[in-house]
Amino acid sequence: MAQDDEMVTWLRQQIEGDRALAVTAVRGMLPGYSWLYARQMVACNHGRTSHVIAERVAAEDGPHIARHAPRDSIADCDAKLALLALIETLPHLYLDDDPFYSCSQALNPRGDDDQPGCIDEGRAGRPCDCGRDRRVRRMTSILASGYRHRDGWKEEWAAA
Ligand SMILES: [Zn+2]
Repeated sequence: MAQDDEMVTWLRQQIEGDRALAVTAVRGMLPGYSWLYARQMVACNHGRTSHVIAERVAAEDGPHIARHAPRDSIADCDAKLALLALIETLPHLYLDDDPFYSCSQALNPRGDDDQPGCIDEGRAGRPCDCGRDRRVRRMTSILASGYRHRDGWKEEWAAA
């Protein structure tokens, strides 16, 4: 489990780091503006003015660079962070009508904070046995694999 926590922490750092770079790249421009590629230049056009981002850009690179305007990068990072938060809050299986068979990690949604939802004393508190942790691990490792070429990536995090 600690391995998974390390991966999720690393993943969140990558996304938040990318978002911070995109916010910096806005440089006082409104983040809602798109970037355009034309005449070997990538530019941010707003109103009657144009802010050149890069010059002498090859035709093969220009559209790609323009596609990564700060507004798009920020939106992409926000979407990934929201998805990660949603994944992390997925509940363990809780069976209201038969809590004996609830996941060993389930919490009673009507109980006090952290009241176990599994009443099988032989399983309660042991590692997840409903598949939730395996699914969460799979989803987060898929997200993290998008950053696999960066420093800090560990092959054992690859989605199985
Ligand atoms: Zn579970």
